[in-house]
Amino acid sequence: MEIQVFFMELIFTCPETSQVFYTGNFEVIDNHGIKTDTAGNKILEAKVALVDPCPFCGRMHVYHANELACPLSGRF
Ligand SMILES: [Zn+2]
Repeated sequence: MEIQVFFMELIFTCPETSQVFYTGNFEVIDNHGIKTDTAGNKILEAKVALVDPCPFCGRMHVYHANELACPLSGRF
């Protein structure tokens, strides 16, 4: 199942500094589509990787889609 995901910007939290930032410079990787967890919630089984280094610590963070406090987890 192919999922096309379109976003302008997402909210990310730097795991090193706990600072929050917005960016549109990310890409969805390892996209396995929508899965249903054991509680019956639909989750997007994918990872989101920063294209540009984190503005706070300079690392290239990778997030699980369902960790993000954003439309990714609730929109489907
Ligand atoms: Zn960071």
